[in-house]
Amino acid sequence: MQNELYLYNTLTRKKELFKPLHPPFVGMYVCGPTVYNEVHLGNLRTFTSFDVIFRYLKHLDYKVRYVRNITDAGHLEDDSDEDKISKRAALERLEPMEIVQKYTVSFHEIMRIFNNLPPSIEPTATGHILEQQEMTMQILKNGWAYEVNGTVYFDVEKYAKHYDYTALTGRNLEELLNNTRELDGQDEKRGRLDFALWIKAKPQHLMKWNSPWGKGFPGWHIECSAMSTKYLGEEFDIHGGGMDLAPTHHTNEIAQNIAYCGKSPARFWLHTNMLTLNGKKMSKSLGNVVLPLELISGTNPLIPKGFSPAVLRFFMMQTHYRSTLDITLDALNAAEKGYQRLVESFQLLPNIKPSSHSSINVKELEKKCYDAMNDDFNTAVLIAELFEISKIIYKANDGQFQLTAEDIKELQKLVSTFFYDILGIPKEDNNNDKVFSKLQSVMDILLEIRLEAKKNKNYTLSDSIRQKLEAVGIIIKDTPEGTRWSLK
Ligand code: AMP
Ligand code: ZN
Repeated sequence: MQNELYLYNTLTRKKELFKPLHPPFVGMYVCGPTVYNEVHLGNLRTFTSFDVIFRYLKHLDYKVRYVRNITDAGHLEDDSDEDKISKRAALERLEPMEIVQKYTVSFHEIMRIFNNLPPSIEPTATGHILEQQEMTMQILKNGWAYEVNGTVYFDVEKYAKHYDYTALTGRNLEELLNNTRELDGQDEKRGRLDFALWIKAKPQHLMKWNSPWGKGFPGWHIECSAMSTKYLGEEFDIHGGGMDLAPTHHTNEIAQNIAYCGKSPARFWLHTNMLTLNGKKMSKSLGNVVLPLELISGTNPLIPKGFSPAVLRFFMMQTHYRSTLDITLDALNAAEKGYQRLVESFQLLPNIKPSSHSSINVKELEKKCYDAMNDDFNTAVLIAELFEISKIIYKANDGQFQLTAEDIKELQKLVSTFFYDILGIPKEDNNNDKVFSKLQSVMDILLEIRLEAKKNKNYTLSDSIRQKLEAVGIIIKDTPEGTRWSLK
């Protein structure tokens, strides 16, 4: 019963019963970050959603091989000849591979802070140039690609005559063609939807490799086809990523795999919806990026208050991964309250006085938690169930409900399994929490004294408080809503 897991498959546009190709093994591939800058909160949401999926599949006793790549070969920025990694390297006066190392390390650090488990394999694009070239060669040999002047293009129009190119999104091909820029005399490609498998490097291009077509670098899509095939085989169970990857990156991945070996790579395609800020997708190009560490320290002016990683992960889990998640200060404050209420109730459990009988049926509560997760990993419903459990605990603590010693133990196990192991909420150091809460009270007192000093026009005192705090790493900011403080 427990493992009747249904998940929404983007490819078929319906919920399907999950059956692995080779039980108990499950192969899962998720597109990882491009390591040319810090991951933002939107990226974090996607990786955290797949972390919960990974955790739950493991909980169901599947032997999961989770592959998440690192995109470290430079890819071209839209409408530019320069690749993102080299551009950043020039800006920071570093080698491209120093940029890769710097942002890979920072990505791992963010993943650790937010309690995301490491994947089973984390292959890099630059470590698999040969595999990408071999796949490109085979696609050429099979007649689905062509070479022009050192660049190899995938022939989408030929492919679309034999296969359903837009199978993943169900988009209308005609419309797609009409919405794509027409080719002009400058273009090397034959069809406007054609994309590059291998790209000839301009002389100034830094990240380049020898190939049968001259010096160049791989296209972005071929990297995931080559690495998923290498580590999970030609057919595997789950492929995931953010919803924004479905129309191009994943659509092209499917086309490449079919052109390579006649097989569509994954049975289930899972896509996470976008994290938005005031209704707009969080993205570097829109300039509305909040970095995970800024949200912890409260140093981003868009969300000027710090929240713990546990609260932030809890906040993300309150929304199902296929719904958009809008981040606002109010929503974060509400999540913080909810989180504290839950954790406080869980902490009461060991001290509840046991009775000879129970007012509740723990097995039923447990089933509701499984039902939520088995319904396409519905963490939002799971959290609603945990709130119900929390109400029961408060009532038992007040003597309005009875719980047997056995049920108290079972509830502790249930909370530990679903809240900490499956949702992956990091366990907070209670002592740290206490110290932080004391610091908060001390800061309230200091800021009150400073305000009083300002009112009395005693600017020497108010400035001295600000400067002395800054010297010990506490920054204060006066805003129309009052004075805020954060750790440097
Ligand atoms: P990138 O490094 O831009 O390739 O993105 C890494 C992953 O984060 C991909 O799976 C993207 O789909 C995902 N992603 C990017 N922006 C957002 C966002 N605002 N919300 C959720 N996921 C996102
Ligand atoms: Zn990918």
